[in-house]
Amino acid sequence: MNSDLQKLIDLQQVDSRIAVVKAEVAALPKQVQLIEAKLAGSKAQVETAQAAIKADDSSRRKYESEIQDQQQRISKYRDQSLGVKTNPEYKALLHEIEFAEAAIRKLEDKILEIMVAADTRKDALKHAEAALKADTAANEKEKEHARQQTAEDEQLLAELTAQRKDLRAGIAEDTLQHYDRLLKHRGSALAAVQENQMCGGCSVMLRPQPFQVLINGEELVTCDSCQRILYYIAPPPKLEDEAGKKATAVPEAPPQQEAVES
Ligand SMILES: [Zn+2]
Repeated sequence: MNSDLQKLIDLQQVDSRIAVVKAEVAALPKQVQLIEAKLAGSKAQVETAQAAIKADDSSRRKYESEIQDQQQRISKYRDQSLGVKTNPEYKALLHEIEFAEAAIRKLEDKILEIMVAADTRKDALKHAEAALKADTAANEKEKEHARQQTAEDEQLLAELTAQRKDLRAGIAEDTLQHYDRLLKHRGSALAAVQENQMCGGCSVMLRPQPFQVLINGEELVTCDSCQRILYYIAPPPKLEDEAGKKATAVPEAPPQQEAVES
């Protein structure tokens, strides 16, 4: 094989691994962001549950103080009723007392509602706190994993970059320029050609003469259509001489020559 070709094949492999690792490194901060957002959500749920309990407490205190006000009003009316001279005046005071008592019953109902809901509120807080605890632990673990992954990726990236440099040092400059251009514009610089004589990059058929040059492997051959540097992959050795079991097995791809003959 042409000496540059094997290096180019290796270089493309190294370059595509570099691209994968770089993409992984780029994705990690986003992953950490997602982890942080989840934790913030759990914290907010705890805060909401705490705020609901606090709001209930303050409502309850407010209702209790209103009950006291009404009770004071009632005892004031009772005192007044001792000194009234006329029946309508007395009835009016009784009416006021009934009104205040009804207000107290309503307030007591509201307090009872809060007390009934208190258990649910407490459960919700306990739930939210447990979820927060679990998420905090998971958060630390996942962040540690992200840190490790980043360190590993950076190490790998340094190794691959060194390999890349070594490989490039051994390849002719104009070939490298061609390679870089293709990699930039087409995403890959090399394409495989198999027995079907088709460019693996753009699927255009090779003419017989360049295909022969490609099989000989002495010179670099590029695809007329997509300009990719081509390398030949020989068909796997036929299994006819092996045990009958293997020979009767369904082949992965139909042999090209038989298709042409029939
Ligand atoms: Zn092509």
